[in-house]
Amino acid sequence: MSVHLEFLKKNEQYVADFDKGHLPLPPAKKYTVVTCMDARVEPARQLGIELGDAHVIRNAGGSAKDALRSVVISQRLLGTREIAVFHHTDCGMLTFLTNDLRSLVKAAEPGNAAVAEAVDKIEFLEFADVEESVKADVKFLQENPLVLKGTTVTGWTYDVTTGKAKRVI
Ligand SMILES: [Zn+2]
Repeated sequence: MSVHLEFLKKNEQYVADFDKGHLPLPPAKKYTVVTCMDARVEPARQLGIELGDAHVIRNAGGSAKDALRSVVISQRLLGTREIAVFHHTDCGMLTFLTNDLRSLVKAAEPGNAAVAEAVDKIEFLEFADVEESVKADVKFLQENPLVLKGTTVTGWTYDVTTGKAKRVI
């Protein structure tokens, strides 16, 4: 059975005691978290983010580069002024290289030029060290001309085996 078949039933339970319909669009605490899509990462509970407090931008690895489009929207249109980069141990981004993934995608459809061309355009933004990747992403945001000057940017790691968050920078 596909998991989506459970959604409506689960949502009915959520709606039963939902009382946050009054929240405004801009995040109340004016901050953004950039983090990984990893199924073990749950920023709301791990960092104490309440509904309506913050933007949480998620992608593979929690890449700031990948998140930039959303960061600009978050800052310029919705008033956020602080960014936390939140990467984690045992991240899938530690396990491959862009060229390997491109080869894998191409090998699944040999001779398909459209697939080859499309995948060659994607930088998968993998990394070899979690703390270094956090520092690099913080630096990327601090130096990016599209990020508002004076934005507080912090970097964090999360340990998936202990649940512990640690400030890196
Ligand atoms: Zn990850």
